[in-house]
Amino acid sequence: MDKQWSEMNKEMQALIPRKATFAQGVEMLLALRKRLFEEITHIMTAYPAEAFARMPFAGAQGYHSKTLAYTVWHIFRIEDIVAHEMIAGDGQVLFDQGFLEAIRSPIITTGNELSGEEIAEFSRQLDVKALYRYAQAVAQSTDSILKGLEHADLKRRFGEDMAQRLRRTGCVSEAEAARWLIDYWCGKDVLGLIKMPFSRHWIMHVEAMRRIKNRLCRQARKGVDPIAYCGFSCNHCFLGEWCGSCRTAYNVCAFATISPDGQCPNAACCRARGIDGCYACDRLEDCEKGFYIPTNDGAAAAKAQALYIRRHGKQAFLAVHDRLHQKYDFAKTQEVLGQDTREGLRILEES
Ligand code: SF4
Ligand code: SF4
Repeated sequence: MDKQWSEMNKEMQALIPRKATFAQGVEMLLALRKRLFEEITHIMTAYPAEAFARMPFAGAQGYHSKTLAYTVWHIFRIEDIVAHEMIAGDGQVLFDQGFLEAIRSPIITTGNELSGEEIAEFSRQLDVKALYRYAQAVAQSTDSILKGLEHADLKRRFGEDMAQRLRRTGCVSEAEAARWLIDYWCGKDVLGLIKMPFSRHWIMHVEAMRRIKNRLCRQARKGVDPIAYCGFSCNHCFLGEWCGSCRTAYNVCAFATISPDGQCPNAACCRARGIDGCYACDRLEDCEKGFYIPTNDGAAAAKAQALYIRRHGKQAFLAVHDRLHQKYDFAKTQEVLGQDTREGLRILEES
């Protein structure tokens, strides 16, 4: 489990039950949820639509055997049902503001009853952008409910009436793989629900989303030229688990994610000019686009690498990168190549 998330979760679990530290515990819970939702946002907003229905671990045991779209649906359906039917006693977010129609989900349940190809088929039907908006709305509405809780609420329990209410909603399938959920939730008090659907359940599934997107990126890069348009090496990139290369639809480099069309300016420019990479461009020395924008602290390093490729070729460049990584411990190339293009090129040529 991610160390930071695990520590925040542990701290939250220690703070919330005690009256004196309850408010701090709620703050910690909200901070943990914010952190996890940032991860969900990165994934939901950066990857191509086809990524959300892929099952790169199909057949495996564990949460990572699902799809990204299913995982987000499942996390927030469970939270929506528990937060609104059980704790707040009001209406679920799914049936508000046209979310169900916008998402185009064929089911209103948590999805526990689905397996294998059913999950993939279900995921293909979803509108991922609408699903993300739904996830945001549920997370925000749960945060408001959590902020309104008092310490005395933690001991609130749920009996058979609640179980029947939940069954009547039809939001939990009667299939064996799903129906246990109602007894599981109703066997907990509010504190128990906080410890699972609102926190740990997120952690487990967001961890699974990480594994899925890491594998999708690795698969996307397979057989693709490992030299990025700007001159970086995808084989040595510290963003390798996030980005599937600017030569694929899984381009999640820093400049792609901040560009309105999701395309790195260097990649877009090279494609428009019909060239293999910035190293093949006669404007390289003076270019200030994308990674070469002077305010980017990696601009000089990127340009030094592109110049090296122009002079010595891609194979020599990949080999020099291997040697640099054997010699130095670094994540970003500018940590070794510095802030001066000529000096960076010299370091590369002498390595
Ligand atoms: S950020 Fe750039 S160098 Fe890194 S994997 Fe993506 S395209 Fe390749
Ligand atoms: S103009 Fe700049 S971004 Fe465009 S191909 Fe040339 S070096 Fe790359």
